[in-house]
Amino acid sequence: AGPAVGVDVGGTHVKAGLVDAHGRVTSEAHRRTPARTAAAAVVEGLVVEVVRELLKQVPPGVRARVPVGVGAAGFVDADRGRVVFAPHLSWRDEPLRDTLEARLGRPVVLDNDAHAAAWAEHRFGAGQGESHLVVLTLGTGIGGAILTHGRLQRGRHGLAGEFGHQQLVPGGLPCECGNQGCWEQYASGRALTRLAREALRVGGPAGAGLRAAGPGDDLSGVTGEHVWRAARDGDPTSRRILAEVGRWLGTGLAGVVGSLDPGTVVVGGGVSGAGDLLLDPARETLAGTLVGRGHRPVPPVLAARLGPRAGVVGAADLARRRDPASSPST
Ligand code: BGC
Ligand code: ZN
Repeated sequence: AGPAVGVDVGGTHVKAGLVDAHGRVTSEAHRRTPARTAAAAVVEGLVVEVVRELLKQVPPGVRARVPVGVGAAGFVDADRGRVVFAPHLSWRDEPLRDTLEARLGRPVVLDNDAHAAAWAEHRFGAGQGESHLVVLTLGTGIGGAILTHGRLQRGRHGLAGEFGHQQLVPGGLPCECGNQGCWEQYASGRALTRLAREALRVGGPAGAGLRAAGPGDDLSGVTGEHVWRAARDGDPTSRRILAEVGRWLGTGLAGVVGSLDPGTVVVGGGVSGAGDLLLDPARETLAGTLVGRGHRPVPPVLAARLGPRAGVVGAADLARRRDPASSPST
């Protein structure tokens, strides 16, 4: 089997890759996602661009048959044709699949970005062999997916797994979805950058490690990656920030695990690069708050094995399986 193209359209990055049948990324293309106010067509244009860029690297003889899959950071309908709503993008009832098919002149498989990432972890990553899997992606927001016996549970309207918008704090921080106090405002890349900015704004020795990690005094330039890199180098402020975000992660997880009883939870997305500095406090909070603790198993919380590439790999694999030339194995 030849390569497939996978695209992951997130709130901050558009990532794409050529992916082989074993889930290996052989070539990549990146763009920054334009501001949330940018027209839908602008984001679509970027997707078309990265797909074309990658297709050019495929021998002309097979190019026409390369499957294309797109995972989009938003609510994808049950037919997987439209993005009905996207908190971090301007898509509102957007017929994304048809638009991309028309512009690319080939079939496109569309899914939610976290569903795509979860599929990849189930097939090739940390979720292999688990019959009851919950996957979270921590990026700009929190994405979620539920897999039972190897099948993505999509809900009645395709919208299952939107864990990031459970309200954890009534009247809390405003969320891009229009509500307040959503989980993703406290346990995502956004949360990391918010806390890092606060630390830098205070100034003084507390922010020194973070400042040295890259952003200097540029409050708007600070990213989640600066925080976990500084934390790895031992910066106490960055470690405190990761621990706080990790505890919020665990608090929300207790609700998810209490409702769904998964065998394993896999945490991916860009923020998961922080590893155990983030996940240990989450595990502790989960174990300390899960209903019925002491009388039930607490599922392991594992870092995604495909890391920030899971969405790309999963979108490509979902597309490949739609391709009549391929033979699905599960
Ligand atoms: C969106 C989800 C998406 C997630 C991760 C959330 O804010 O509601 O649809 O999967 O962010 O990108
Ligand atoms: Zn929200």
